[in-house]
Amino acid sequence: MSTHTIDLLTGLNNAQSEAVLCTEGPLLIVAGPGSGKTRVVTHRIAHLARECHVSPYRIAAVTFTNKAAREMRDRIATLQVPDSDSVFAGTFHAFCARMLRRFGEGVGLDSNYTIYDSDDQFGLIKQAMQMADVDEKLNHPRAMQGIISGAKSVLMDSVGLAKQAQFEDELSKEMAARVYHYYEELLGRSNAVDFDDLLMRAVQLLQENADVKEEYQRRYHYLMVDEFQDTNIAQYRLARLLTGPDQNICVVGDPDQSIYSWRNADIRNILSFQNDYPDARVITLEQNYRSTRNILDTASSLIANNGMRVPKELTTENAAGADVVIHEAYTQEEEADFVGKEILELARRDRIKPGSCAVMYRINSQSRSVEEACLRLGIKYRIIGGVQFYRRREIRDLMAYLCVLHNPQDDVNLARAINTPARGIGDKTIQDLRSWSLSKRLSVFEAITAVSQAKSAGLPCPAPLAARAYTAVARFGDLLGRFSDLKAKLPMSDLIDLLVKEAGLEAHIRKTDTNPEERMENIQEFISLAAEYESDSPEDDLSAFLERASLVADVDNYEESEDTLTLITLHQAKGLEFPVVFIVGLEEGLLPHSRSMDSNAELEEERRLCYVGITRAMERLYLVRAFQRRMWGNTSATLPSRFLEEIPENLIRYARSPGAVTVPSTSSRTGYDRSLTTWESTAVDQEPKDPVYVPEVGHTVKHDKFGSGLVVSCEEWGSDYQVEVCFDGGELRRLLLSYARLEKV
Ligand code: ATP
Ligand code: MG
Repeated sequence: MSTHTIDLLTGLNNAQSEAVLCTEGPLLIVAGPGSGKTRVVTHRIAHLARECHVSPYRIAAVTFTNKAAREMRDRIATLQVPDSDSVFAGTFHAFCARMLRRFGEGVGLDSNYTIYDSDDQFGLIKQAMQMADVDEKLNHPRAMQGIISGAKSVLMDSVGLAKQAQFEDELSKEMAARVYHYYEELLGRSNAVDFDDLLMRAVQLLQENADVKEEYQRRYHYLMVDEFQDTNIAQYRLARLLTGPDQNICVVGDPDQSIYSWRNADIRNILSFQNDYPDARVITLEQNYRSTRNILDTASSLIANNGMRVPKELTTENAAGADVVIHEAYTQEEEADFVGKEILELARRDRIKPGSCAVMYRINSQSRSVEEACLRLGIKYRIIGGVQFYRRREIRDLMAYLCVLHNPQDDVNLARAINTPARGIGDKTIQDLRSWSLSKRLSVFEAITAVSQAKSAGLPCPAPLAARAYTAVARFGDLLGRFSDLKAKLPMSDLIDLLVKEAGLEAHIRKTDTNPEERMENIQEFISLAAEYESDSPEDDLSAFLERASLVADVDNYEESEDTLTLITLHQAKGLEFPVVFIVGLEEGLLPHSRSMDSNAELEEERRLCYVGITRAMERLYLVRAFQRRMWGNTSATLPSRFLEEIPENLIRYARSPGAVTVPSTSSRTGYDRSLTTWESTAVDQEPKDPVYVPEVGHTVKHDKFGSGLVVSCEEWGSDYQVEVCFDGGELRRLLLSYARLEKV
């Protein structure tokens, strides 16, 4: 054995080493959090490349978030893998995007296609609904979008969906199938795909083109999938198609951490894997290296309450560590205040910097009170899961131009760019241009170019436009033409910089925005990202940059700094670890979320979510709640989360005030423990109320006045919910949940 191998295996236990050395044939690693699954994947890659002389180019590792992928790449590089950049370590989406850039033509995509995000998608769905003659009042576009996305996640096309709808006699599905058909047509016309398509098209490509499939199977001779419990049917199918005759596929996961079933992840994939690869080796890892024993025991006692699971033991050699702290604040402001002060106290007393801490919560809007406390107490923080950087309006406006320059057929982004800033090109003009371009079999971009060429040649307008519109469109065409030329000549960051000025974006922001400085800072940040990208990968062009920008989730903008506290939703915390974790809002109705209360399966998913949060903590864990919370528009007393009661007394302590931790009281844990507080006089009369029922799309509900109807959408709206109900008379109403008092039928 060479010294290298010793290096790679020294840091591993026996089961981990076995998994690293088991390089040939199918392998399934099922193991709990913090047991080194991801570590095994990286060491296995290093082992293959260094010891088995497999070209790094032949190895692919897919994972769930870009952040996880980046960590994986960093770890591979530190394991001295030669030419480690050639290993593919990225998300399924990135993998497919790259495959389609090369071979998309096999499924009717030009290589410069655009990836539409859910907002673009939404606009297109609405357009498709018009074409399909489906009434928005009766069928909410979001509901249609959800059904179509669900169909795509199981690789079903519009014909398949129509058949299913017929079979199930489901009217909304039948409508969705029609919309799906036109939606695909619109995507095709724009040479664009949505996120689900990336997977679906890649699968189609491999299924229909044996050559491409064989090429990929040869190319990626070793395939690894991390966070396998959260893959959907399409992703799993893709993984199978990529696996060649040698079956070198290794999947790694933990069923207890499956938290994406609402996004169509299918935990049955783990079972399917064993059916599909009956010879698969199965390795379990049982030692947790991440967390203290107290934290681990807390997590284990919680998850033991799930009925639908295979019990598994997790042990650790780590010390028992500090007790898990439970704090019950009075209001959500006091909850946030407790967290903030405790963070300051940890820094002062224990020299634990805020950068080692994370505050986790169930829904995004919970971050606001924590933010306010941070501002008050002077703690730097970074929110993950707020408005994503690439989603901000100014960034999307700018990207619209870049997308058009890159893919002139992209009508959706063209429509966005054409009037940002306003250029006096009205809806009618755009409509006229569209019809004219269709009749001439041109893209809208080509139509605009034709108009501006005619204008500079002093000719009459070739399209049926009024004189003013002719000038405006021609001027816009000149701008696009000029930047199309510049695209090849300037570095990307300079191109963008110039575009911001010349397209009038900067002036637009300064004129129309209430906070222009912040928006311009975002634009500057975008330009520096482009510059950074150029220096990292000089051979990559606009195409790759845009692809990355379309694929990045916000976890990727997260940079570690020792002074910056992380605020993050429980969903996004997956795979990460922090020395100190605060989970806030441990209340019935919030965690578990009220939407999950009706079904045991959903309740168990909430418990897994809480489990994921707890198991991110390495050294200290705080479980916090507010006795009284403003939710759904009114303030009411809350009940402690049932999850709190599932933790044995001997592992926990109750904190009274920041920094002052007391021993458990003998009073009940199911209510606010008044003996520890100073506010009891105000709270005595508060009887905990049942959490408000939050309807889900598809539920039938009853309203006092309007009678019964079908929920077509339900979205968070500040601390309330906005629900759209189609009542039995056919009337669509938009209601605020706190006022509507809907009952489930
Ligand atoms: P999750 O399920 O949360 O994704 P995981 O099983 O992927 O967890 P890793 O992130 O790979 O776990 O490992 C958890 C932590 O334990 C990491 O900090 C890792 O470096 C460390 N670790 C893993 N194995 C060992 C080992 N054999 N010796 C020391 N530290 C280890
Ligand atoms: Mg992991």
